[in-house]
Amino acid sequence: MNPAPLLKAIAFAANKHRHQRRKDAEASPYINHPIAVAAVLAAEGDVSDENTLIAAALHDTVEDTKTTFEELEEYFGPEVAGLVREVTDEKSLGKMERKRLQVEHAPNLSIRAKQLKIADKLCNVRDVTDAPPADWPLKRRRDYLDWAMDVVAGCRGVNTKLDQAFDQAIRRAKGKLGTG
Ligand code: ZN
Repeated sequence: MNPAPLLKAIAFAANKHRHQRRKDAEASPYINHPIAVAAVLAAEGDVSDENTLIAAALHDTVEDTKTTFEELEEYFGPEVAGLVREVTDEKSLGKMERKRLQVEHAPNLSIRAKQLKIADKLCNVRDVTDAPPADWPLKRRRDYLDWAMDVVAGCRGVNTKLDQAFDQAIRRAKGKLGTG
C-alpha cells in the first residue's frame, strides 16, 4: 500500500482537529483518537483496505469540525467521503436521538463502516476505562459501555478479530468499573 494517501488523511485530520481536546482529565489532543481508531483497524483487526483506514483517520472531521463531505470528496474521493458519511451522526438531532439512531442504523452499515464503527467504539471503551471525562460519574461510564455494546451488536460478524478485541476491551472495562 502506498503510504501517501493515508498520511495525507492523518495530516488533514490533525489540521482540522488542531484546536480540539478530548474530554479526559489531561485534555489530550483530539487527533489521538482518530489515529488510535485507524491503528486498531490495522494492528488489531488486520484491516489493510486503504479507504477504510483513510476514513478512520477522517471519521470525526465532519461531525466535530467545520469540514464538509464535499471537501472530503474533493481531497479523498467519493468512497472515503461515503464511508465517513455512514459513521457521521445527523448533527441537527438531539444527543439521545443520535445515540438511539446509531443502534438502529448499525446493522445497515456497509461491511467497511461496521469495522470502522467497532474500532471507534473500542477506542472509546478503552478511554472510558482508563482516561474517562473528568466529570463522568461511574454510572455514566457504565451506561456508555452498555450503549457501545448495543451499537457493536449490530456491526458484528464481519471481522472476528475486531469482535474479539472489542469483547476483550469490554471485559477489561467491566473488571475495572464493575457492572453495577
Ligand atoms: Zn470517533
